[in-house]
Amino acid sequence: MTKTSELAARRASAIPRGVATATPFFIERAENSEIFDVDGRRMIDFTSGIAVLNTGHRHPAVVNAVEQQLNAYTHAAFQVMGYEPYIALAERLNSLVPVRGPAKSIFFTTGAEAVENAVKIARSHTGRPAVIAFGGAFHGRTLFALALTGKAIPYKHGIGPIPGDVYRAPFPVAHRGITVADAIDALESIFKNDAPPDRVAAIILEPVQGEGGFNPAPPELMTALRQLCDKHGIVFIADEIQTGFARTGKLFAMQNYSEQPDLIVMAKSLAGGLPLSAVTGNATIMDAPGPGALGGTYGGPPLACAAGLAVLDVIEKENLCGRAIELGTRVRARLEALSQMNDLVPIGNIRGPGSMLGFDIVTAHGATTAVAEGAKKITARAHERGLILLGCGTQSEAIRLLYPLTIPDAILEEGLTILQAALKKE
Ligand code: PMP
Repeated sequence: MTKTSELAARRASAIPRGVATATPFFIERAENSEIFDVDGRRMIDFTSGIAVLNTGHRHPAVVNAVEQQLNAYTHAAFQVMGYEPYIALAERLNSLVPVRGPAKSIFFTTGAEAVENAVKIARSHTGRPAVIAFGGAFHGRTLFALALTGKAIPYKHGIGPIPGDVYRAPFPVAHRGITVADAIDALESIFKNDAPPDRVAAIILEPVQGEGGFNPAPPELMTALRQLCDKHGIVFIADEIQTGFARTGKLFAMQNYSEQPDLIVMAKSLAGGLPLSAVTGNATIMDAPGPGALGGTYGGPPLACAAGLAVLDVIEKENLCGRAIELGTRVRARLEALSQMNDLVPIGNIRGPGSMLGFDIVTAHGATTAVAEGAKKITARAHERGLILLGCGTQSEAIRLLYPLTIPDAILEEGLTILQAALKKE
């Protein structure tokens, strides 16, 4: 019996099936873009633990910062006693996050928790209840975040009732024929039929949809949303949980647009592998909830705040924004070449800014129609060959590439060669 099969059996009897795992492997250790499993297999990581490790596994600067913090104190609870790493990281984000006006930041642990709190802040500021989200959005699995998430199966199946006062517009996706005009028409019809603008607290969107298929929001959508929010006093929330921290070639994906949101939620790569999330926003809006209304025992844990400060240093020192563009340009050209090869499963709709690249498995070479569930076979074949890949998309039609931005050239190349082998027609 291998260690893998032993752990698989123990997992099956000890852990509920609701937490699904994309690969059959169990990690033993990891370094930058490589993972070694419990049976000694070496794998290349093109997932970064779902966009958490833009600075790679165990970046020495992050490990060092956490070790130092570990030797001082590990927990205080910010509601019991303040600590400098929390304040220092807030100051740092306030100077970097592209929101309007002077900013303030608050910390939590998970992405969903940041989303929940952004909604609470927007409701408190506006005194209004409703929130508008988009089709195919992913904002988390806790109950209100789940209401905002735009995919019923598997996330909402059997978990009713879902909190109300959430309305949904289609997200524009050119290769599916959904236009910005469709999205704006839907928003106007929500205002007319369901929730007049003076009942709407917030509009939330991902600048590039993550789980929904790596679909970038068209610039005209951002302009229209900013105008609508300004006209009606609605809080504009950008969910940068998957797009943040250099992934798209900018520190935040919103910097690829000319508009600024009022609040930004972030998590994942913020702390290089430690659990940390944040809401950063316009100071007036952020100060709406009264003392005690926000927080949580573990919100902004000291080890994670220390890691977050180190992550921001690494992104700057190693110019990871530039590296995201450089690698993304190279990988995109490679994907374009793969899409031309007749001996490979047809791929198309290659998309995404910087190193947030995705593509669909399509019905034929040159086609734009995606094959539902098309990603599953390819990712499984990549896993067998030692490349860890993830699918995405509302029908599991897409493959997303989320290699650490610190990946060495040779390992990136090795990973792309495995991707090509996984795409080979049977
Ligand atoms: N928003 C986005 C855009 C995400 O990608 C995710 C996680 N995939 C979340 C929210 C939820 O984050 P978490 O899993 O940390 O709750």
